Amino acid sequence: MHVMGIDIGSVSSKVVVLDENKEIVTVAVVPLGTGSSGPEKALKLLEDQHGLSLLDMDQVCVTGYGRLLFQGANRQISEITCHAKGIHHLAPSVHTIIDIGGQDVKAIIVGKDGKVTRFFMNDKCAAGTGRFLDVMSNILELKVSSLAEIGSNADYPAPISSTCTVFAESEVISQLSKGEKKENIIAGIHQSVAVKAVALARRAGIQDDIMMTGGVALNLGVVKAVENELGRSIMIPEKPQITGALGAAVYAYEDCQKQGV
Ligand code: ADP
Repeated sequence: MHVMGIDIGSVSSKVVVLDENKEIVTVAVVPLGTGSSGPEKALKLLEDQHGLSLLDMDQVCVTGYGRLLFQGANRQISEITCHAKGIHHLAPSVHTIIDIGGQDVKAIIVGKDGKVTRFFMNDKCAAGTGRFLDVMSNILELKVSSLAEIGSNADYPAPISSTCTVFAESEVISQLSKGEKKENIIAGIHQSVAVKAVALARRAGIQDDIMMTGGVALNLGVVKAVENELGRSIMIPEKPQITGALGAAVYAYEDCQKQGV
């Protein structure tokens, strides 16, 4: 038996396949999101690498920002519900998820059953999201994947506004023209993202354990800044981008069980 969860995000497409033991058989992550060829490319990757296609699946569940556009799934579920399910499957001790994706930040409180108890989301503004980091890395002429390492050599975090991406962009340019070290600017950018995420988590009401997910959790500079802001350590899954797709796959698995597949 095989089931598939697909998460079509704003900047990336993720696919997870589970087997009859609810074990992960394979995953695919493509850095292209909704409205692009991302979902198609992620499915093609699975087919090329593992010979598994949509036709081999007993059940398919789609989630994410682009889920309503996707044809070929048995079910569509919101990403907040799927993140909670995916994390509960991976680490049932986690009750607070801080998810920072391409265009939003979510704080999700998960109950003992893996269902969402409460959530807060900022999707009105790019500040504090992956997009903010992408814009800043462009100005610094660096890859977003190199920010953590370079920022780890900072002497202090340069002050960067956490309220608006456009203002922060001018601030970074002005810091650069004053001769501020890129390392310090990066540390300031990470801190600004962390302040927003932690404020959202506090509003939701933090409950132990805490896990950070989403593509931005690949940036250990932001993870450390979140830990500093919270004053404690947090958990990170091995593949932080796939938790929504994993949750969708777990729902697909449960649907199969209900149908006696
Ligand atoms: P979405 O689900 O909204 O499509 P993701 O959860 O995939 O978004 O997060 C995308 C963001 O993750 C990007 O905007 C980028 O800032 C960050 N990101 C992606 N890959 C990396 C990486 N290798 N290192 C650091 N940050 C990354």
